[in-house]
Amino acid sequence: MAKIVCVLYPDPVDGYPTSYARADLPKLEHYPGGQTVPTPKAIDFRPGDLLGSVSGELGLRKYLESQGHTLVVTSDKDGESSVFERELVDADVVISQPFWPAYLTRERFAKAPKLKLAITAGIGSDHVDLPAAIEHGVTVAEVTYSNSISVSEHVVMMILALVRNYIPSYQWVVKGGWNIADCVARSYDVEGMSVGTVAAGRIGLAVLKRLKPFDMKLHYTDRHRLPENVEQDLGLTFHPDVESMVPVCDVVTINAPLHPETLNLFDDALIGKMKRGAYLVNTARGLICDRDAVVRALESGQLAGYAGDVWYPQPAPKDHPWRTMPHHGMTPHISGSSLSAQARYAGGTREILESWFDGRPIRDEYLIVDGGKLAGAGAHSYSVPKRG
Ligand code: NDP
Repeated sequence: MAKIVCVLYPDPVDGYPTSYARADLPKLEHYPGGQTVPTPKAIDFRPGDLLGSVSGELGLRKYLESQGHTLVVTSDKDGESSVFERELVDADVVISQPFWPAYLTRERFAKAPKLKLAITAGIGSDHVDLPAAIEHGVTVAEVTYSNSISVSEHVVMMILALVRNYIPSYQWVVKGGWNIADCVARSYDVEGMSVGTVAAGRIGLAVLKRLKPFDMKLHYTDRHRLPENVEQDLGLTFHPDVESMVPVCDVVTINAPLHPETLNLFDDALIGKMKRGAYLVNTARGLICDRDAVVRALESGQLAGYAGDVWYPQPAPKDHPWRTMPHHGMTPHISGSSLSAQARYAGGTREILESWFDGRPIRDEYLIVDGGKLAGAGAHSYSVPKRG
């Protein structure tokens, strides 16, 4: 029988909800492109309930305990004396969400000799040291597509919020003001602006599709080019690299995974190549942007705004400069954890566990590392440093 350690974010400060704003969720069967939403044999939760916090337990307890497994759920994840690190020593399976990542470092792999499976309940397994997972023979899986559309909606919201100066305008209302000039002195229309995405995978392409009706000019760069008919339908301009794309964009949105090629990509030099007064939206991973370069660019006016929901580390410390820099629209890491997304990634986590314990293959599109190498979706989107 297995021991599963699940790290989830803490419950709301006023307690686990007893009621919800909406009665149900729209029922989806497929993602764009045809991939089916998760297909576990059964679920023991109500879609629309808060599943990603400790008391929600991703809806897994009944299923796992009925099979004789042990489930430990905690939000205490950082440091040697954390519950996570203490429970890890005899864990067979670890489940973690990128919003509240249980960093699976090389040191932690060394402390977990029984570990065989690390599941990301969501998308983005950069909190797992993938080369170490490969060396230790640990399978890494994530719930591909589960929250890609959720993030794309957040990106569009953030672009509009920055360009139209929504957040400061809202704050004037809350403060009791009617300061139209203060609000509009930094407010523009996105119509006619050029927007470029770094990566046109599931999220990046969904962002482009959603921005097309705003009559923006659409640009992208990616390691693989999109099919010609997609480029034509959306009127896309492809750039072979990020350096050639950013100088022509008024808005840049980052939608690539964090791996050695994208780490610290947006540094002083690349931000310096952007149009003066451009907006940068990063919902991919905090470490793709140089923290202090972003602050400097906002202070100098090189960037007119920066928004996103990804930080490093997470949770971000109280004195993280992105909390207080000018013209930002940051949220905590929430874009992929709407109640709608939670239902999908909780179902996908259950599907992965059912496959694992039944001895059936995990869907290829969910695999990041398997059999001692990058596999499935991971082989397509990630890279690991070459050794030696
Ligand atoms: P996909 O795998 O569908 O897309 C990733 C894309 O990035 C692929 O098209 C890949 O290219 C491309 N890519 C990889 N490396 C580079 C590079 N160096 N330069 C340009 N393009 C690159 O994933 P999603 O769109 O679903 O998610 C993308 C990322 O967004 C995740 O890895 C995660 O980090 C983040 N995310 C954030 C969430 C949040 O809550 N804020 C939630 C979900 C995801 P190709 O395949 O052509 O090689």
